[in-house]
Amino acid sequence: MKRKPFVCGNWKLNHNLAATNELIDQIIVGLPANDNVDVAIAPVATVLFSAGAKAKGSKLQIAAQNVFYESQGAFTGEWSVQHLLELGCRYSIVGHSERRQYFHETNESVAHKTKACFAGGLIPIVCVGESLAQREQGQTQNILLEQLTPVLDVLVPENIPQLILAYEPIWAIGTGKSALATEAEEVHSYLRGLLVAQFGSSLAEQARIIYGGSVKAENTTELMNQKNVDGLLVGGASLTAGSFLAIVKECLKRLT
Ligand code: PEP
Repeated sequence: MKRKPFVCGNWKLNHNLAATNELIDQIIVGLPANDNVDVAIAPVATVLFSAGAKAKGSKLQIAAQNVFYESQGAFTGEWSVQHLLELGCRYSIVGHSERRQYFHETNESVAHKTKACFAGGLIPIVCVGESLAQREQGQTQNILLEQLTPVLDVLVPENIPQLILAYEPIWAIGTGKSALATEAEEVHSYLRGLLVAQFGSSLAEQARIIYGGSVKAENTTELMNQKNVDGLLVGGASLTAGSFLAIVKECLKRLT
């Protein structure tokens, strides 16, 4: 099945308001005129209001890097799905490995956040991925199953066509060492299999499974030509318009 490629730039803790505004202008101008790819950026939370306003009416979509699962109350420092929708966000990254590592997110909190996103009308980009040690010990599939099981438990069939799963091997993030396209495909096909087992193939075939970890224009085509690689989560190479747009354009050349 042909799924529309989805490319999201994760800006992490980079770019102030002025730089964000400038970069959004450059990206919007350079986006392909056709609708053959969905493109989003996830800037720092404090600039989401401005980013949402700037992107309104354009082909660029806005994602948050994180979201909380409660909608209101005594949760100092958090923001909800509703708050993000108000700012013009369409997506939120959930469970990025940096949030798991530095902010103690658990598989269960990732599942709560995923459920809250779908309940409130935000599309979650759910990140999973193994460490180098886990891969070397042959634990990749076990780890992904452990990470994904609580998420699968909260999903209902209607969620699956919108679901975006991001496979981000930790050893490939920010290291310059991307997974080989074949390595990515092996994992994506395993993840698709988990969805098929729970929701059946006609729904599972609609979910998008994207890859993240040292993506650049040079390795985009090979990754995107894999059967189950439906898009990319891009960190470092999304921080300038030229390198990000080059990746977006490469995605349009996908064969599968
Ligand atoms: C990321 O952190 O989501 C990521 C994929 O980073 P990079 O592209 O820099 O490896």
